[in-house]
Amino acid sequence: MTSTTPAMPKARKRRCRTRTPNVNQRPPIIASELRANQIDLTPAKEHLVCPDCSTWVPITGMLGTPKLVPHHTGRAGAAEPRRCTAGSNRQVTIDVEADTWRTELIEAVPTIASRRATKVLPKPKVQPAPAASQITPSPLSAERVRRAFRQHEQQCPACKGEAVGRDGQPLPCRDGQRLAVTFLRLYRQEPQRQAVREFFARERRRFDRQYAAAAPEKRMSEWAAVLPKVKDTDARRAQLPAGDAPLESVVPLTTLHPQRPAR
Ligand SMILES: [Zn+2]
Ligand SMILES: [Zn+2]
Repeated sequence: MTSTTPAMPKARKRRCRTRTPNVNQRPPIIASELRANQIDLTPAKEHLVCPDCSTWVPITGMLGTPKLVPHHTGRAGAAEPRRCTAGSNRQVTIDVEADTWRTELIEAVPTIASRRATKVLPKPKVQPAPAASQITPSPLSAERVRRAFRQHEQQCPACKGEAVGRDGQPLPCRDGQRLAVTFLRLYRQEPQRQAVREFFARERRRFDRQYAAAAPEKRMSEWAAVLPKVKDTDARRAQLPAGDAPLESVVPLTTLHPQRPAR
């Protein structure tokens, strides 16, 4: 977190969820068309990235007609605060369950790093972003989820079995369960995914081999195709021009293979 120096110009403070009857006339933003890292459906903290100004903006009216609050563009500190006219009060169609969104988000871990809250709005608290060293553009593997689960387990009293409810039973942990479910699913799919990867590699190699084998043959057939034309041209070149032979020079007939004059 960086702290702003007092000298920096700041956008005027807004209430987090301004309530206004105004509604933007543009078609609503469809939640399911956003990527998991462009929306935050954490209950009571719903935000999304305004498509018009790329700023994290709170969604208001979740129980009735959800819409984006009036907001500034994310330029605070860099330029004059400017109202996002296109995106303020724009309606949002929430057609994604928070649970589904969270699962998607967990599976899209590498992209979380690209999230940056603006200075105007507080960054919504969601999954802790992984350390830079943990981010690799490789596909999510069961092993990586297992490590994430271990890491979570070490910090989570519920998953360690130390948190007990009033009935003496260990408390369940939804985050831990979700990680475990994702791990099991990937673990089950791993052999199949490996097989698919091998299949692709094998087909690629086969194609390359076929292509290499076909190359000389292709050249031959290309030659064969132009051969009649070449012969034709040669034959015409060998013909004597009609009419009288030029007086001052003789048409050479044996240019290509001159013979030494006999001694
Ligand atoms: Zn906006
Ligand atoms: Zn847990």
